[in-house]
Amino acid sequence: MKRKYLIVGNWKMNTDLDQAVELAGKIGKGLDRDDAQTVLCPPHVFIEQVFKAVKKVRKKNLAVGAQNISWEKKGAYTGDISIDMVKPWAKYAIIGHSERRHYFAETNALINTKIKLALTNKITPILCVGEKRFMSSDLRDLGRDLIEGLDGLTKAEMKKVVVAYEPVWAIGTGKAALPNYVNKILKEMRLWLKDEKGFDVAEGVRMLYGGSVNSKNAKDYLQEEQVDGLLIGGASLKPGTFLRIVKAVPKDK
Ligand code: PEP
Repeated sequence: MKRKYLIVGNWKMNTDLDQAVELAGKIGKGLDRDDAQTVLCPPHVFIEQVFKAVKKVRKKNLAVGAQNISWEKKGAYTGDISIDMVKPWAKYAIIGHSERRHYFAETNALINTKIKLALTNKITPILCVGEKRFMSSDLRDLGRDLIEGLDGLTKAEMKKVVVAYEPVWAIGTGKAALPNYVNKILKEMRLWLKDEKGFDVAEGVRMLYGGSVNSKNAKDYLQEEQVDGLLIGGASLKPGTFLRIVKAVPKDK
């Protein structure tokens, strides 16, 4: 099945306002691929300005995403960011990133609530899952994170979900997973999804890889059969590097 490529840049807690706007402008101007969807996820406080910078360059397949959303709609949650606060700007939201799971103790139940909240607000959730131990043969945690994160979603909702496979040991370490290993894991995840949600859902869900991707290795992942795109951390902060990664998207899979 043909699935549209998706390249997502997660800027994390980096850039100041000027740098964020400049980065978005440079990436926007340099983008020359209409066949791949590209998403920039700046810090929440700059999301409106980055959205405006993106709008200025008028690129059909360039969108803005949120790095996270609160599980609650509103209320006494000091410092948190609600879906309504990002909704005017964000088309996508990264949910369950390993840094949120680790530093903010996010559980699968909480992540599942966020996924549902994103979907009811017409924001595409990007669910992040990944094993902690280096190339662990025990993938039960990964399977649990995937299935519990997507618990209760209808087939129609599942069509809108993106899953990012991000082995924790590969994030920000320079130790990227081998492309054929990634392909094997994504295949396995599609099998789990097939058991839970059916064949069509499993085949239709877009699956990304994330973990120390750079402009040199991006092509190797994108050529793998199961890989529908990439989630990029560090390398998304350099416009030239990020644009080279987008250029690595195969014209025909
Ligand atoms: C990430 O944080 O999602 C990520 C993949 O980071 P990096 O590309 O820096 O490994």
